[in-house]
Amino acid sequence: MVIQKKYHFYAGHRNVEAGEKCGRVHGHTYKVKVHCEFPSWDGDIAMLFSEIDSICERVIKSFDHYLILFEQDPLAELFADANEPFISVPFQTSAENMAVHLFELLDEEGLPISCLEIAETESSNVIYSPSNL
Ligand SMILES: [Zn+2]
Repeated sequence: MVIQKKYHFYAGHRNVEAGEKCGRVHGHTYKVKVHCEFPSWDGDIAMLFSEIDSICERVIKSFDHYLILFEQDPLAELFADANEPFISVPFQTSAENMAVHLFELLDEEGLPISCLEIAETESSNVIYSPSNL
């Protein structure tokens, strides 16, 4: 049994390794789909949707309305010096890396997550599923 839930958050970022356009600071409405897998489902409720929401919303919304910067991005130091709020991550902020990061954060919270999809735009979607690598 798989339960899929959808979330979204708004955030700014840049990825200087992904060309001039993506290297500029810009924002997305990140759309996130979380798949929770229950391989030993016994016909009862697998997990309350509200329990999934309470974990996912806390983790995913922690990025909402922030600028997400690679910790080695020179802008991170400027923002820190200016005492401006931002989120520092230990990777370039590609959709692929964001998918892995969100997956790991949700997994660490005990969610039975099997797959995470993230979309920065309507036409592009990254799907991360460690069991299918
Ligand atoms: Zn982008």
